[in-house]
Order: sequence, then structure tokens, then C-alpha cells
Amino acid sequence: MNKKLHFFQSIHFKIALVFALLLLITFQIVGAYFVQQLKKDNLKSFKQQVELSSYIDSSLIGNLSRGNTTKANTNIKDILEDVDNSNVTKIQVVDTKGTIRGDSDVNSQDLIGQKTTDNDIKQVLYNERSYAKSAYDRTDNKRYYVSITPLFSTTGNTNTLVGAVYLRASLEPVYSSINKVTLIFATAALIATGLGLILAIFISSAITRPIDEMKKQTTRIARGDYSGQVKIYGTDELGQLAQAVNNLSVRVEEAQESSEAERRRLDSVLSHMSDGVLATDRRGNVIIMNETASQALNIDPNIADGQSVLDILGIRDKYTLRDLLENQDEIIIDLSDEEHDEILNAYFSLIQRESGFISGLVCVLHDITEQQRIDRERREFVSNVSHELRTPLTSVRSYIEALNDGAWKDPEVAPSFLKVTQDETQRMIRMINDLLSLSRMDSGTSKLELELVNLNELYNYILDRFDMMLKSDDAHEEGKKSYSIRRDFTKRELWVEIDTDKFMQVVDNIINNAIKYSPDGGVITCRLLETHNHVILSISDQGLGIPKKDVVHIFDRFFRVDKARSRAQGGTGLGLAISKEVIEMHGGRIWVDSIEGKGSTFYISLPYEEYEGELWDEA
Ligand code: ADP
Repeated sequence: MNKKLHFFQSIHFKIALVFALLLLITFQIVGAYFVQQLKKDNLKSFKQQVELSSYIDSSLIGNLSRGNTTKANTNIKDILEDVDNSNVTKIQVVDTKGTIRGDSDVNSQDLIGQKTTDNDIKQVLYNERSYAKSAYDRTDNKRYYVSITPLFSTTGNTNTLVGAVYLRASLEPVYSSINKVTLIFATAALIATGLGLILAIFISSAITRPIDEMKKQTTRIARGDYSGQVKIYGTDELGQLAQAVNNLSVRVEEAQESSEAERRRLDSVLSHMSDGVLATDRRGNVIIMNETASQALNIDPNIADGQSVLDILGIRDKYTLRDLLENQDEIIIDLSDEEHDEILNAYFSLIQRESGFISGLVCVLHDITEQQRIDRERREFVSNVSHELRTPLTSVRSYIEALNDGAWKDPEVAPSFLKVTQDETQRMIRMINDLLSLSRMDSGTSKLELELVNLNELYNYILDRFDMMLKSDDAHEEGKKSYSIRRDFTKRELWVEIDTDKFMQVVDNIINNAIKYSPDGGVITCRLLETHNHVILSISDQGLGIPKKDVVHIFDRFFRVDKARSRAQGGTGLGLAISKEVIEMHGGRIWVDSIEGKGSTFYISLPYEEYEGELWDEA
């Protein structure tokens, strides 16, 4: 934009040129007028100078009237010789008949007595009127002046033509003096113009220097450099302009700083926002995109720049820009793929000027994946709970109805009907207790009562109970499963901080499951080992195993691989969900490895810190 200014395009040059041209034109006009006037005056005085005096005229008239006599001609010759004018080159006297009666030129004396051949003279004699001309003689390149004057003798009131005088004079002295003056004038004009030009250059540089400085300063301002100041040379208009440029520089700097600060503030607000923000121009092309939006949409802001917001959000199939502009509702954008869920809520609003002109669109993207998941889980949970409670209640109701209808009298069926209602009611109570403890853990009201426990001992204690159960009388009841428990523990004593009751509940539940889902006589292997910062308990069975697709859901609430079977065995589908919550509250992890048809291994890992022996020895 800031093209280099050619010297001939500069104001500096233009002012000097105008100044010089003005001077030149002025001199031209004055000179032309002056020389013209001089020429006119000089010629006039020259003519007056070369005209024959009236005295000579009257003596010529006298001699001409006397007729063509030698005497008269000699007189005329004398008169002509007396004429003393260096400019006059030739005087010839002719009578009315055109006969040459005298000639001032010595070489032309033989013409005397001959008829004139000059047509101009003949014309004058004929017209009886004087004639004059200035002419240029090509033979010797000189200007000359010719005047032919008729001569009259006056008797009374009548004028009689007696002849004419032909006079020729050189105009060269007049012209050479005019030329000299013209030359002087031209030289003076040139010198004056030259001096004027130098003066004009100085004056114009005095004007253009401040302008030039202001130009440089404004260019610097445009570049963003506000450090310079224009020098103020005076208080005239240019001085005031320079002052204005300096003020402008300060104002622009202030404005620039405040808009820069504003931009930084906006940038920091945008980049620290947990919501994604997109701003577009009025054509819907993205001009701003914050980090959150870029991550949520998985698009580099530089690539998104200038692209349509419809493409960036992938909603071109369903919406047009007009839809977004006219109807700024929220839009749910589902970006979920097979690997992960991602649902965004996009709120649109217009960027509008006071005049109502729409200059763009702002889109705020809010990640609602988690919220949607929680909503879905809550809905599923409510429906699961209702369903799980309805089934036992329905069966209890139908048994009670049957008893009510008279079955109570039947000693065969009544006790078994009552047993079923009792079992179902107990299962419901168990389920409600499970739900309550889950809800306590969810709300954070259930606290762990931690104590330092020797895990080897605790694990042995739990397993001993299961061994005892096998030996008790109940175990030999018909239909009860037999199993054997194998222990594989590390020799090292492992002390961990746990809530004993809750932890025992977890291990009980897993061993119960292992027994439940194992064939009769199955071996259950219980291991205890340590890594450098974890203790790991594992419980392996030789049971049904869990289908691969269900492994990820096994710890979900109410999830059961085979609902009917679990229910028949009094399961609630909440045991593993509770176990997971409890272990996670301890900062540990629970997971399962399973091969369908072969068996499953449940693992519990707890954080473990080795306690220094001496501490305990002292105690
Ligand atoms: P339930 O009360 O039904 O046992 P759990 O939460 O304890 O509920 O277990 C959830 C489901 O996980 C069970 O219904 C069962 O299908 C499956 N499961 C748990 N443990 C085992 C196991 N050791 N072998 C095979 N499947 C198991």
C-alpha cells in the first residue's frame, strides 16, 4: 500500500514546477507585450526619422514643376545629396509621367531621364496617395523600409500632382536593437525563473518536510509502532496537523491497548470455559473456536477456521443456516461411535448489532454425555427396581390368594405355599437392604470404619466358615451342593487397613457366587498374594463361566447372566454391584477373568503399604 513515491510525483516537485511555470508564463506575457510595444515605438520613430523634411519636399516640388530640364535635375541631385541620413539607402524622385528625375545612388545616375519600372511608384502616381511597406530582401537577408510619397504643388485651393519621392531605408539597426533588448529580457527571465525555481524548492521543501514526517509517523502507527512523535515546526495549519497526528498516535495506542486487553480477556475466558464455544461470521463460517470445542469436535481450530458451522457440527443434512438464524433452539448432536459415547448440546444465539444487523452466530457446546448416561441409568434403575420387586410380590400375592381360597386347609400344600411366600419375602427384604446400602454408598452417607487387619487371618477366618458350613448338618440336606476350598496364600503376613464387616460381605458374596454357579463337588481356589504396592485376593471356580459379552456388565446393578436361574437361587443381582462399590471405596479394584464353561476367577486388589516391623515390635 505504501508505494515508493517517485520524485516527479511528489508535492515537492509539483510546487516547484508550478512556481517556475508561473514565473515563466508571467515573463513570457510581460516580455511579449514589452517587445511588441518597443518594436512598434522604434518603428514609428524610425519612420519619422527617415521621412524627408517638408523643406526638402517643397524644393523638390519646385524643381519638378519646372519640367524635365537639366537644371532642374541638377538641383534635384543637389537636394538629394544634401539629405543626411545614414539609414536611408536610396531616394529616387519621379515626375508625374513616371520619368526618374533624380537618384541618391551614385551608381544609378544613368537611370535619370528613364521611365520608372517600379509598379508601386506607378500606383502612387496613379492613385495620388502615399504608400509605405516594410519588406524583407531575400538577396541580402535584410529588412528594409520603402515609402513612396506623392508630391503636390499648391496654387490657391488646388493641389496638382508633380511627382513622387521613393525612399528606401534599412531596418536592420531597428531590428538589431530590438533583438538585443529581447535577448536581455529573455536572459533576465531565465535567470529569474532559475532563481525562482531554487526558491520554490526551498519553500516547497519547508512545506513538504513536515508532511513527509507525518506520512512516516502515520505509516508507523499503521504498523503498530506508536513510539515516534512528529516534530512540530510552527503553529500554522501544518503545525496543528502535526499536533493532531501526535494526539492520534496516543489515542490509537490507547485504543489498541484496550482492545488487546479485551481480546486477551476474551481469549482467557474462552480457553478456560468448560463449554465449547464457536463464533461465526454472518455467512456461518467459523471465526473463533475455543480449546474445549476443538477437543469435543476433534477438529483443529486452524482447519475449522473459515469452514461452515454446519459442516463442523455435522448437521448439514438436518439444518440450514437459515434454520439456525431464525430459530435458535438447542440442538442435540450425537457424536458417539462404537468406542465411546459423546453427546453434545448446542445452543445458538445471534451476534446482532444495535441496528439489528446480524453479524454472526455464537454456538455454545455443552457435553451432556455424562448427564445422558446418568439419566439413562436412573431410568433403567427405576424400571429394574420396580420389575424386581413386582415379580416376588406377584408370586407372594398368588400364593396368598391360593391359601385364602382354601389351600390353607390343605395340610399337604399349605406349608410349602407358606415357605415360598416366606422365601420370596426374605428375598425382597434382602434386595431392599442391598438397595439401601447401595444408595447409602451413592449418597456418601455410608462411611468406612477402617482398622488395620491381618489379611491372611481374615481370609482364613472367612474360608473356615465356608468349610464349617459344609460340615454342618444342613449341608447334608438334600439338594445342597458340595464343594472344596483350596487355599494358596503367601507366607508373608499382609496388614491392610479395611472396613472388616464390609470387606467380609464382599468376599462372602464372591465365594457364595462361586459355589452357586459351580457344579456339585467343584473346587474353589482362593489365593492371596502381594505385588510391591498391592495385595491381591483371587477366587477361582470351575463353574459355568461368564459369556464374553457379559463380562463388562457383570458388576452392573441387577445384571444377571441368567435371570431365572439367579432368582431361583435367591439372587438379587446386586451382590457384585455392592462389592464393586465397597472395593472402590477402599481405593481398590475388582475384576473378573472368565472362560465360558470352564470357570471364573474374581480378583480384588487393595492398595498395600508395607509397615515397618520395629514399630510393631516396640508396641
Ligand atoms: P446374583 O444375586 O444374581 O448372584 P450377583 O451380582 O452376585 O447377583 O451376580 C450377578 C451375576 O453374575 C449372576 O447372576 C451371575 O449370572 C453372574 N455370576 C456371578 N458370579 C459368577 C460365577 N462365579 N460364575 C458364573 N457367573 C457368575
